[in-house]
Amino acid sequence: MAAAQPHRRLFIPGPVEVLPEVLAAMATPMIGHRSAEYAALQGAVRPKLGTLLYTQNRVFLSASSATGLMEGAVRNLCARRVLSCTNGAFSERWHEIALANGKEADALAAEWGKAVRPEQIEEKLKTGRYDVLTLVHNETSTGVMNPLAGIAEVMRRFPEVMFVVDTVSSLAGVKIEVDKLGIDVCLAGVQKAFALPPGLAVCSVSARALERAATVKHRGYYFDFIEMKDYHDKDQTPATPAISQIFALDFQLDRMLKEGLEARWERHLGMARRCRSWAAERGFGLFPEAGYESVTLTTVANTRNVDMKKLEAELAKRGKEISNGYGKLKGKTFRIAHMGDCTPADLDGVLSDIDQILG
Ligand SMILES: *Cc1c(COP(=O)(O)O)cnc(C)c1O
Repeated sequence: MAAAQPHRRLFIPGPVEVLPEVLAAMATPMIGHRSAEYAALQGAVRPKLGTLLYTQNRVFLSASSATGLMEGAVRNLCARRVLSCTNGAFSERWHEIALANGKEADALAAEWGKAVRPEQIEEKLKTGRYDVLTLVHNETSTGVMNPLAGIAEVMRRFPEVMFVVDTVSSLAGVKIEVDKLGIDVCLAGVQKAFALPPGLAVCSVSARALERAATVKHRGYYFDFIEMKDYHDKDQTPATPAISQIFALDFQLDRMLKEGLEARWERHLGMARRCRSWAAERGFGLFPEAGYESVTLTTVANTRNVDMKKLEAELAKRGKEISNGYGKLKGKTFRIAHMGDCTPADLDGVLSDIDQILG
């Protein structure tokens, strides 16, 4: 076993802090994945996920991280050409994934820190070249939340283009009404706002998307949506599911529904506002352009030139961890995640630790 380190409470944008009782749910004794007990477990999770995603669509469970489903979505749905909106590391990854799978693909690039605009998407789609649009709702690398409702409005005018959305760091922290928005594939990993250990991903898939998939060649094997649908309808998965994580997911979904979804969205929004005003009061800027700040994490522009190494080391002494900027934003920004089971009191705690350290 790896040497036990004193635990640091995580305020990083994934994996996030997992409550002891959620970890304990993973210790449920193992069952066979073709047993009636397993089908009952998946059957119990199914409607709760539908409630959380505001959808009647099927929601698949995938024993993978979210990147697996990002790959699956383009493989299953693109017969012609993918348009990937890019304004950060994860959305750029999706463009790379499309190319790596031999798909014809273009990036609609906005600067890191800026949001993608519905008008830009409309202009591109009007060319008629595309059959899939990929969008990262909440760019975890920059802390920008793209205007999902406005983009969904544009997508309605292009019914032949599949609307595929990565909500990895927003789903379960922000209200995302999949059916109302007309999202064909809405995917997320559970180690962000679901506050579960990593290794499981979920995605809703529309009937339209399944019709498309049925016509697409070389969908691949592990993430073949048609196979996933056939097994889903028996409350199973094609290969062995992440059973321990699904026990924990079931437990966590009950907790979310008990909190109340509206209360959950309010809690997240409240923490975001608190964190933004903390930054402003301390003379920091925010990295995202105004009006598009993420609700689940705050990306602070390091306008005070704080030594991040020192800050991280001092926080570690206090048993806490935040995130340096992502990739090229290292040192220029830092990120504080406030999602999942993080409470306003937890957030206040880490912010006052930072205050103490910065003096
Ligand atoms: C974390 C993250 C991913 C990657 O998820 P994995 O589970 O690590 O594959 C993709 N997109 C966004 C927006 C993320 O925050």
